[in-house]
Order: sequence, then structure tokens, then C-alpha cells
Amino acid sequence: MKLLRGYLADFVSLLFPELCPACQASLVANERIICSDCRYNLPFTNFHLQADNIVAQQFYGKINVTAAYALYYFTKGGKVQNLMHHFKYKGMQQIGTLLGNIAGLQLTESPVFNTVELIIPVPLHKSRLKERGYNQSTCFAQGLAQKLNAAVEDDNLQRRVATETQTHKSRFARFENMQDVFMVKHPERLMNKHILLVDDIVTTGSTLEACGMELLKIPGLTLSIATIAYAQ
Ligand SMILES: [Zn+2]
Repeated sequence: MKLLRGYLADFVSLLFPELCPACQASLVANERIICSDCRYNLPFTNFHLQADNIVAQQFYGKINVTAAYALYYFTKGGKVQNLMHHFKYKGMQQIGTLLGNIAGLQLTESPVFNTVELIIPVPLHKSRLKERGYNQSTCFAQGLAQKLNAAVEDDNLQRRVATETQTHKSRFARFENMQDVFMVKHPERLMNKHILLVDDIVTTGSTLEACGMELLKIPGLTLSIATIAYAQ
């Protein structure tokens, strides 16, 4: 029976080969979720090896970030964009866990990220969460937690209001819009902890900045940031 099921699975995969969500190549037998070429050759930033990286610079003079990291560079029309599209809009939550594992392995090489105690995903508003069925940042956080010696806390930082689309607003307008959007329900649980705040993509950093401002009101809290991609 087990053998038959194996044959059946091979046959189905011949008819409907599973495709790599980044490059659309057919996955071969030992490949899981993304192809080997993408696994090793997507554009890594290696920001964990460079404290003064461009994501860290986004927060200079705004909030006190201990370390900042993004796994990949995001380019329009590139493979990372394809990957993110499948992750956010095609229900492929497993991409987030995998990328969290890959990022987590890199972060264990960093003495700063190694001291993270809690991982907090940027929350979605509950109406958006209902629509999508999952928070993509939570998937990434869970993958990270499997490699870092840290836990995920996804019910403490909360989004009060659903912000309208921010794409066409200036940085200042965005910031006004983000003020008071986030709140921490149980600040006492985060006191004196090193928190890793995670999101899927960082561009201007205004969402992470708004979350960070709330978190940094908590006594003794140290804040670091990690995202899947950095887009200019
Ligand atoms: Zn691929």
C-alpha cells in the first residue's frame, strides 16, 4: 500500500509538477518548497554581518534599534517578488516558515541576534487577518524561532485600526497615519527583554518605526528588527 501510494505520488507529480514559487522551475524529488538554485542564489543581503547596513540606517535618529536585518533584496519583477506574492496571496504559508529557518540560521552567526529572547510579528488588523487567514509575519517569526533560541509572542502587540493603503502617501503623511495604530497589551511581559520585531518587507520602515516606538516605551526593552526583504 505504501509502495502504491509512492507510485501514485510520483505519477501525480509527473502530471502536475510542483513549481518553485520564485522561478517557476519544476521541483525535483529532494527539493522542498523552493528549488535548490533559488535556495542558494536568491539575493542575500548578509546584513547580519554588517551592523551599519541600510535597514539599520532607516531608523537612525528615530528609534533606538540594536540590530537590523533583512534576508533578501527585493527588486520589482524579481524572483523574491514572485516568492513574496505566493507567500502573501496564494496561501503558501510554508514559504514563511522556510524563509524563517534560512534567516534564523544566518542570525545564529551573529552574537547580537543570538541574544534575542522573544520574537514579535507586526500584527495585521483582525479584518485583514480574517481575509487572508494568516499573518505572514507570524509564519516568518515561527521559522525564525525554530533556529534561534527564542519564543514567538503574537498576541501582545496589537493593531488598533485598519490603516488604509499607504502606497501613495508621503513619508510625513504615513507617519501621522501610523501614530497610535499599535498598542502593547501586556507590557510587563516584555520588560528587560531583547525583542526581535519582524515584518515581511521593509521599505521606508514607517510601520516598524511605529511598532518600535510603542515597544520602546517599556522599561529595559532592547529592540532588534528582521524582515524577509528590503525594498528600496
Ligand atoms: Zn527556483
